[in-house]
Amino acid sequence: MPLSTPALEKALQTHGLVNPKRRMSARHEGGILSLAALLAATVFYLDTFTDIHSALATLYVITVLLSAETLTEKGTLFLSVICGSLAIFSYLTAHGLQADLAAALRLTVALAALAITCALVIRNQRARLHLLRFNADLRSSEERYRTLFEQGRVALWERDYSDVRKMLMRLRADGIQDLRAYAREHPAFIETCIARVPTIAANAAALDLLGNVDPKVRAGDVRAIRRYIAQDDATFLELLVAIFEERRHFEGRGTVITADGTSKLVLLTVGFPQDAADFNRVVVGMFDITERETAQKALFDAQAELALASRAATIGALSASLAHELNQPLGAVVVNAQTLQRWLDRDPPDLAAVSRSAERIVRDSQRASDIIQSTRSMLGNRPPAFELVSLPDLVLETRTLLESELLRARAVLDVEVKEGTPVVRAVRIELQQVLINLITNALHAMAVTPEAERRIGVTIEATDAAGAVVRIRDTGPGLSPEVFKNLFKPFCTTKETGLGIGLAICRSMLEARGGTLTASNHPDGGALFDMTIPIEADHD
Ligand code: ADP
Repeated sequence: MPLSTPALEKALQTHGLVNPKRRMSARHEGGILSLAALLAATVFYLDTFTDIHSALATLYVITVLLSAETLTEKGTLFLSVICGSLAIFSYLTAHGLQADLAAALRLTVALAALAITCALVIRNQRARLHLLRFNADLRSSEERYRTLFEQGRVALWERDYSDVRKMLMRLRADGIQDLRAYAREHPAFIETCIARVPTIAANAAALDLLGNVDPKVRAGDVRAIRRYIAQDDATFLELLVAIFEERRHFEGRGTVITADGTSKLVLLTVGFPQDAADFNRVVVGMFDITERETAQKALFDAQAELALASRAATIGALSASLAHELNQPLGAVVVNAQTLQRWLDRDPPDLAAVSRSAERIVRDSQRASDIIQSTRSMLGNRPPAFELVSLPDLVLETRTLLESELLRARAVLDVEVKEGTPVVRAVRIELQQVLINLITNALHAMAVTPEAERRIGVTIEATDAAGAVVRIRDTGPGLSPEVFKNLFKPFCTTKETGLGIGLAICRSMLEARGGTLTASNHPDGGALFDMTIPIEADHD
């Protein structure tokens, strides 16, 4: 019965003796197994029935080697045991139990050769199995990556940065430390680098992003990709800096020009491999953020307009205070001018007294001018001017500005300055606007408080972080849970004529400079607003 019959093969597989994952055809394997069996039979015959005095049984090793690729580990072991048994059987048939030293030695050599071969074959099989498994894992991981790359909705490119990396590393070795400065001094540098980054692959989303992409780009033609990168785009240089500094990740915004000439704003992310050898396949991801950016810009513009409108509203509310403020210095100017005239009319004129009156006129006019100036700068839409601001001075000045409001509301404003309050660098007019808003709100809230208890306490102190906090507490009814929930959201108001945008604007104004505005109810009653201001404001 031939060894390759399906029944035998099935039986061998059932017992786990032959490898079910064949790498050769069934016929081929059957042939090898038959040959091995024939060889074993021949060796057995010669060993048992001839009188050849040599270690013939050693030839069983060939049987084991021949079938190594077809059999499993268990099968190899089984075959080796059979071959060993056959050798022992032949020995017993030929020599019985009589001691024959030479024959016994030959048997021992044959058995040892079989055992060693069996062990080596099994080791080899294990290593092969391991390699096969490793390759299968690698293939499936590569397939997963390919699926992700090709079918993902994010635009992905595979680019070869190895050449550029080498060039950058050479520059570093030559002592270049500031790549940006180097690029400024060598205008052709960026172009040279772009020309050395071929595209290896691009997924469908990447091609969609750029519109109808030139087929040359896909073929890795570096000159072809150049037209898709905006001329004044600085992102590529930043990406080079990231490679130069051996960072593992880069993220930046760039502009790409699509096939039909429109420019798109993209967010670029690149993960750089750890191993320099892998720079030949760097994956670059791109997200189209054009729409998001346009929407954000519209939002900023709307916010700026709203802030301006609110500033105008604040000024409107201040006009009463302004009239009062101006009344005082202007009245003083008139009185001093009249006095000056009287000194002049004397005979002889009292020039020393004239000079004193003139000085007073100048001082009061200056005050009136300052008041008008600060009101105008509040209304103006000029770029913010950062300056050193002493918060205690600012609060006192704001109190003066709101004096008539305070008088009308019959409220007192106390200022307490704790030790170590730092001077901050901020936009003075913005801080003042927040203060005016918070104090005016407190005055409105205290309308229901008995007159004798209407008190606003302003405390100024240093924060744990580098900055200052201004706390404004009133003796009004505090914030109801309903209002508290939406306090900083636009259009939250309980006032008949209120817009409900004051606090929203105050908070965004402070946050834009790295500060905060929070509200709470004081345990002893009344609302408490905390505005924090960093020592050094963020510059936009
Ligand atoms: P508006 O003053 O136009 O209502 P704001 O945003 O300045 O807008 O204030 C929103 C709401 O928050 C006010 O209508 C009021 O109900 C509440 N609020 C603000 N400050 C205080 C305060 N100090 N005490 C109690 N409620 C306050």
